[in-house]
Amino acid sequence: MWCLICSEDARHIDSAMDGIELICPECGHFGVSGIVMRERNERKFDVERTRVWLHREREINPDRCPVINSSNVIWASEP
Ligand SMILES: [Zn+2]
Repeated sequence: MWCLICSEDARHIDSAMDGIELICPECGHFGVSGIVMRERNERKFDVERTRVWLHREREINPDRCPVINSSNVIWASEP
């Protein structure tokens, strides 16, 4: 499947969480909550700022897969 952040070819991971878990060669291992998946329909994540956020989350919690949810999602600004 495609990475939800950057559209690279990413690997889908079986996950118990509500949402989706992916490993992207560019963005790494991350999750996206079910609510964000539903909100996402027409919108896109801000690729650069989302990657920076993922990087910071991994530094804070190296043992945990960062999950993009409705409180931390960074949407790309509308064109
Ligand atoms: Zn990606």
